[in-house]
Amino acid sequence: MPELPEVETIRRTLAPYLPGKVITRVEPRLAKAFRPDPETFLREVTGRKITSLARRGKYLLLSLDNGKKIAIHLRMSGRLLYSENPSPPPKHTTLILHFEGGAELLMEDPRKFGTVHLFAGKDAPPGLTALGPEPEKKKEVLANLRAAGERRKVSVKAVLLDQRVLAGLGNIYTDEALFLAGIDPSRPVNRITPEEWEKLYTAICQVLEEGLSHRGTSRRDYVDGKGEPGTHQDYLRVYGRRDQPCPACGEPVAYKRVAGRGTHYCRICQQ
Ligand SMILES: [Zn+2]
Repeated sequence: MPELPEVETIRRTLAPYLPGKVITRVEPRLAKAFRPDPETFLREVTGRKITSLARRGKYLLLSLDNGKKIAIHLRMSGRLLYSENPSPPPKHTTLILHFEGGAELLMEDPRKFGTVHLFAGKDAPPGLTALGPEPEKKKEVLANLRAAGERRKVSVKAVLLDQRVLAGLGNIYTDEALFLAGIDPSRPVNRITPEEWEKLYTAICQVLEEGLSHRGTSRRDYVDGKGEPGTHQDYLRVYGRRDQPCPACGEPVAYKRVAGRGTHYCRICQQ
């Protein structure tokens, strides 16, 4: 699933092209992906101009010149591809926006979990409204992490994955940050010390920054807005490296289920 570095890389690759484009034709192809429904989407989006492109958490947000916004969430396998010379659309196409001059933006999604939400003002998708702060907002993020530690006895990994606590982390960058901070992913969150929260916050910022500088992690489906894969998969410390040597101590990287997710960690380095 694309996480913050991947979604932000997609945004950056699309940013030179989308703002200012007039949408001449709309093809909502996978009806169940659309909120409120494909008919409304077709009616409200056809003929509109895209005024800006933003990211919040794992959502991409397109603003239109009629005051409406489109929130796209790629979920498991969604891709968003811009092309000036489009080829025939792939089998699992959720949406095509056709622009003046022949370019198009296509959403491909083999697993069909991605969503396209058209809204105005306070009708934003609940997942977007409930999002916690972006990771760079240190004070807010640390306050939310500590508050989560006081209220709940779940694992630290579950808290990092909770988009209401902070926005943008998923399975890959969570495992990487917990490794850098030396914290076992299954540790109950009420047993994280204030110093460890600081360390973990620094680790989160570092792994996201690295992921972004490598234009995202391409293990399965992810490519950027122009179809190019990222390279951060070559730099991962523990994620996806089960039984390979830990980069810090050489012990085989361990694997277990934490917070319902397959989790990579080092038994020696993470306590
Ligand atoms: Zn180790």
